[in-house]
Amino acid sequence: MKTDILVIGAGPVGLFTVFEAGILGLKCTLIDNLDKPGGQCAELYPDKPIFDIPGVPYQTAQEHVDALLKQIEPFEYDLILNERVESMTKKNDLWEVSTNKGTNIETPNIFIAAGAGSFEPIKPNLECDFSALEGKKIFYSIKDKTIFEDQKVAIFGGGDSALDWTIELQKIGANVSLIHRRDAFRGAPDTEMNVRKLTDEKKIKLLTPFIIKDIKGDENIDSIKLLNTDSKEVIDIDADYILFFYGLNKKLGPINEWNLELSGNKIQVNTETFETDKEGIFAVGDINTYPGKLNLILSGFHETTLAVQKAFGRVYPGERVPFGYTTSSKKIHEKLGYSEK
Ligand SMILES: Cc1cc2nc3c(=O)[nH]c(=O)nc-3n(C[C@H](O)[C@H](O)[C@H](O)COP(=O)(O)OP(=O)(O)OC[C@H]3O[C@@H](n4cnc5c(N)ncnc54)[C@H](O)[C@@H]3O)c2cc1C
Repeated sequence: MKTDILVIGAGPVGLFTVFEAGILGLKCTLIDNLDKPGGQCAELYPDKPIFDIPGVPYQTAQEHVDALLKQIEPFEYDLILNERVESMTKKNDLWEVSTNKGTNIETPNIFIAAGAGSFEPIKPNLECDFSALEGKKIFYSIKDKTIFEDQKVAIFGGGDSALDWTIELQKIGANVSLIHRRDAFRGAPDTEMNVRKLTDEKKIKLLTPFIIKDIKGDENIDSIKLLNTDSKEVIDIDADYILFFYGLNKKLGPINEWNLELSGNKIQVNTETFETDKEGIFAVGDINTYPGKLNLILSGFHETTLAVQKAFGRVYPGERVPFGYTTSSKKIHEKLGYSEK
């Protein structure tokens, strides 16, 4: 397989790369180790509002991802999900990228849009094997909150996700128990106050200081045992679903092994082209660093727009990069399938 730009990561910045490359006539292939596009927006905070996308006063994070996917519909691109890029090797003027599932792709341009690296949810350290319930009755993030309507849900954790989802799922009629190892929370104080109010009003159950000791079940959750860390009493609770919000291990993963110039966990780039110290390898979005860097979506959009200019020259050496406003360029309109009435 060959592509003009191989993009590692289908977060917002990876997705917008398809647009900017597309209007220059370049084809992208995106690879993401998650099961869906959208990066942090889709995985960490799909229902939260974003207010600082230029020209868009309000969008939830998932709406933002959906809008980016809509915006790139006119362009042909490949999206490979559930695969992690493991290695990149130089082959004459091209790079070859390989994934953990054996996919190999040749390209003159690699765009690393890997955000905070690969996400892996932190799981409870239990002696029992609860893997049969994972993805069916035990989740580490919420993709579709409607499945919890009128269900008994045990939420574990003490940060924003645990508090936010306790309130949100209670609103849609779930019977929520929030379980935390101590009677103090790391989440926003306002949200904690709301949770305590709901507890006083008996709209949710707050169980502290408890930790999970055992889960039984195969198709459904048969039993859950909790240990009170003060009194050492063990109690049983009943739930249809368990949500663990213990945070994510952000693993830089194989990026560490690619011999790129790093600063801490971030890849250093030059701010003219967002190229790394290796020719043809660019780093855009949250994964890069330079003086003044801000981890914002709009910064990543700017970075990748400039990077595709340089990438164009590596696909069509010696050709001038075609610049045009999307408002008035007939060539861009053709690519977007737009015709003036
Ligand atoms: C709670 C929260 C609220 C936020 N609110 C805002 C806001 O209001 N405004 C704003 O501008 N920003 C906000 N941000 C930050 C914003 O989400 C990030 O700046 C943005 O997601 C960065 O986009 P990205 O495409 O660079 O990376 P990401 O969104 O992190 O996507 C990177 C993708 O790369 C994949 N990946 C990594 N390594 C590999 C590999 N080796 N192989 C394959 N795939 C790989 C990952 O799975 C991931 O899907 C917020 C962040 C959080 C956590």
